Amino acid sequence: MSSDGKFKPKMIGIICNWCCYGGADLCGVSRFQYPTYIRLVRVMCSGRVDLKHIFLAFSNGADAMFVGGCHINDCHYNPEGNYDALSMVNLCKKLLEHVGINPKRLRLEWVSAGEGIRFANIMNEFGREIEELGPLGKSEGIDPSELKSRLESVGRLIPYFKLTKMKELALHNPDQEMYTRLYTSEEVDRLIREAPSYYIDPEKCRACTACARKCPAEAIISAKGQVHIVDQEKCIRCGTCFETCPPKFRAVTKIVGEPVPPPLPEDQRTIVRKGKESEVA
Ligand code: SF4
Ligand code: SF4
Repeated sequence: MSSDGKFKPKMIGIICNWCCYGGADLCGVSRFQYPTYIRLVRVMCSGRVDLKHIFLAFSNGADAMFVGGCHINDCHYNPEGNYDALSMVNLCKKLLEHVGINPKRLRLEWVSAGEGIRFANIMNEFGREIEELGPLGKSEGIDPSELKSRLESVGRLIPYFKLTKMKELALHNPDQEMYTRLYTSEEVDRLIREAPSYYIDPEKCRACTACARKCPAEAIISAKGQVHIVDQEKCIRCGTCFETCPPKFRAVTKIVGEPVPPPLPEDQRTIVRKGKESEVA
């Protein structure tokens, strides 16, 4: 809020080094004005911007996010990173909608290094739009702490979205309109509803370590002779442990739509072996 009582949004722009940052620079040297509350972060390519960055910014109080890249076919990298940004932003808009956030709070634009005035115009227009919407959660009618918790819970599923939507996220199609139809709200709702969790049954785990050795996210708490535990915060829900656990143990369970049982306390994880038999102490 400024001294005149007018709402000043917190806005972050992540922009590519080669084109959009050049446009922002030209805008500055040409003395075109745009709101000072828009803070810019320079990255080498708009394709570097991740769903995680956007979710983190919103959960930490940003009212809006801007992503700026080179025009399609002008990307300085091969394959073109701006296609990745285009697909990611369209998926992110649907995820924000699921959380209850107005997707207009996320904007993607292509700006070349010669388009200083256009950069200023976009920033001014976007700033005005967000000023009208008000603080994050206001136009949505959601309490900020509730919004933060929703963002964090969906944010934890980001690796799973990236795995399940790998093909769409890597799509390079010159028809930019097509990207707006690439993800549907129903599909995103279903993805979230059906997101699996993996749990190791302490009665069945025999600490063979196979799952921990294969887990790509180092999400399995593993120790010799101890029941293994899935760290739910780190787990990317790839299902590798489920597939790896030997059939004679079948200790990993896939859980959908139900809460995951709490992990066994640390002092109860030792597996006591009696001859060929073994049991959890
Ligand atoms: S599903 Fe299993 S293997 Fe995959 S990240 Fe989670 S704990 Fe690791
Ligand atoms: S693969 Fe199965 S039995 Fe082996 S440590 Fe993992 S959960 Fe336990």
